[in-house]
Parts: sequence; C-alpha cells; structure tokens
Amino acid sequence: MATAPSSSADARVIDGRAVAAGVTAQVAAETVGRKPGAGIAPGLAVVLVGEARGSQVYVGAKGRKAAELGFHSIQKTLPADTGQARLLDVVAGLNEDPSIHGILVQLPLPRHLDKTPVIEAIRPEKDVDGLHPVNAGLLLAGLPGMVPCTPAGCMILIRHALGPDLAGKRAVVIGRSVLVGKPMASLLVNADCTVTVAHSRTRDLAATVRAAEIVVAAVGRAEMVRGDWIAPGATVIDVGMIRLPAPERGEGKTRLVGDVAYDEVAKVAGAITPVPGGVGPMTIAMLMANTLVAACRSIGRDAPSFG
Ligand code: NAP
Repeated sequence: MATAPSSSADARVIDGRAVAAGVTAQVAAETVGRKPGAGIAPGLAVVLVGEARGSQVYVGAKGRKAAELGFHSIQKTLPADTGQARLLDVVAGLNEDPSIHGILVQLPLPRHLDKTPVIEAIRPEKDVDGLHPVNAGLLLAGLPGMVPCTPAGCMILIRHALGPDLAGKRAVVIGRSVLVGKPMASLLVNADCTVTVAHSRTRDLAATVRAAEIVVAAVGRAEMVRGDWIAPGATVIDVGMIRLPAPERGEGKTRLVGDVAYDEVAKVAGAITPVPGGVGPMTIAMLMANTLVAACRSIGRDAPSFG
C-alpha cells in the first residue's frame, strides 16, 4: 500500500524511490556475490552513440546501478558520426556474446541513424528495453516477453497503491507512445482493467480522465492534468518529466515537473506519484530486473517476478 501521507487531506504519496529500492534489493539478492554458490551474473551492455549530455547522464546512471548490483556491466560509446552498418555490427557482436544478457541502445540516436532497424537487430530475449516488435506482440498477447521498463515500473506502483487485484478498475492512460502509453495500456488490460487510451486527438480529455480510478499520464506537457480532472480517490501515476527554467533558484537553473499539476491533484487523488521521486527511479530498477530475468531465462532457470 502507498505510504507517507503528505497531509491529512492530501493523497498518499507513492514513494517511487523506496519501491525501486525494494526491486533492486531483490535483484541484488539473486546475483552472484550476493547469493554465494547459486547466484547468477547478469550482463548488461549499454550502447551510446554520440555525446548528448542527457543521454550520457542516463547511461552513466544505468551502468553504475548495474555495477552496484554485481552485474557484468559494459558500456560501448561510439562516436556521433557512427554509421548505421557499424552500429548494427556492434549490436550483432553483443547478440553473440554469452556474457551479455541485456542490450540497451540509448535513444534518441543522432539524426542520421534510423532506430527501427537497430531495435529490430537486438535479439528479442536480450531486448531489456522491451521495444522489439516481438516483445510488443508478446505483451499484447499476454505472453511472457520483455516488458518496457517504465510501464512495468508503473504497474508495480499502481499495485503498491491499490493491492494486487486490479480487476474491473477503470483506467485511463494519457499518451500512446510505443515506449510508454501502449505497453502501459496492455499491462492494465492484462490485469483485467477496463482501459481507455487518450491522446492528442481525444475529445474532452478532462471528462475522460474524470471517469477513471487509475490515471497514468505519459504526455510530456508540464502540469497538464488539473485537479478538477481527477475523480476523488483516484490513483494518479505521473510519467512525465519536463525541465522548466527556474530563475528563482539562480541563473540557468531548472526544475523537473511532471504531466500532473501535483499540488491540485494531490488534494483530490487517493494516491499520487511525485516528480521527481516517483516513476523515474522505477525505470532504472526495472531495467535491472529485466536483465536479471533475461539472464535467468538464458540458462533455463525460473525468473523471479517483481511487484
Ligand atoms: P511521446 O512519444 O512524445 O508521446 C506523448 C503522447 O502524449 C502521444 O501519444 C501524444 O499523442 C500525447 N499527447 C500529446 N499532447 C497531448 C495532449 N494535449 N492531450 C493528450 N495527449 C497528448 O512521449 P513518451 O516517450 O511517451 O514520454 C511521455 C513523457 O514521459 C515525457 O515527458 C517523457 O520525458 C516521460 N518519460 C519518463 C520516463 C521516466 O522514467 N519517468 C520514461 C519515459 C518517458 P499523439 O500520439 O496523438 O501525438
């Protein structure tokens, strides 16, 4: 259940950092060095093309977390002018490397590269980002595959707030990206929720959202979801991460906000994720969990389940 009420009248705050720490502790407990004798050494390779600052920060954080958990962790940094064929060669090499169970190509790629053939070149069983069309299809069919990290993490947060049984709940997912919105909707359908997927062409979004007991916002528009859109007691998961200028904090400073107008919505919702400290920490934790699952499956061992 969600923890730490922010005040008596407000929603319970779902502490993504604490839930993510629980997931990574479970992953660490399964890895060699932490589980003497029977442990497994999951191998994660992160491929970065170019030096975009945001991507470097994300890749660094993933590599550090993997190393901290006792994984075999490698980073392949390729120059910004790397060609499509060279990138595909790198992926092919990692596909063949038995010490690597998870391959992640950091997106976005430089503009001259086409991400689709690169994603399709990753072996589905090593596709720890869950973006390969085979994994997208398995998820839609309700079969085991690799689930994209952010929606997988959102499901754990929703169950943390509402308990394991979500059957019959009315859910609205705002956003229909391949990375977040669509897999999120599939996960909720697979959990027997009644799901509406809203997007930029949805008419009367506020009324659509107001009908939901679970709201997942994955849009990328700062504080778009207002307090009067939310049904009293709803569970609100804010995936959005938008950096806004914050001159009040000093010259050139920024602050991170979500898709949800937090202060307003927290007064109405039953439970809510903050930004930062909500969905973000879950994404990296689920990448580690997916890599462990891939490693277990590669040797025919039962994979642990999370959440
Ligand atoms: P995306 O590919 O840009 O998709 C955004 C979706 O929002 C689209 O489906 C779009 O509709 C919809 N949308 C745009 N304007 C809308 C409006 N006015 N009303 C309703 N729907 C609208 O973005 P994404 O990759 O899914 O990411 C969404 C947000 O989540 C971003 O802020 C991103 O930074 C964040 N994110 C966070 C994490 C994390 O770990 N916390 C991970 C991934 C993403 P159309 O399809 O009609 O264009």
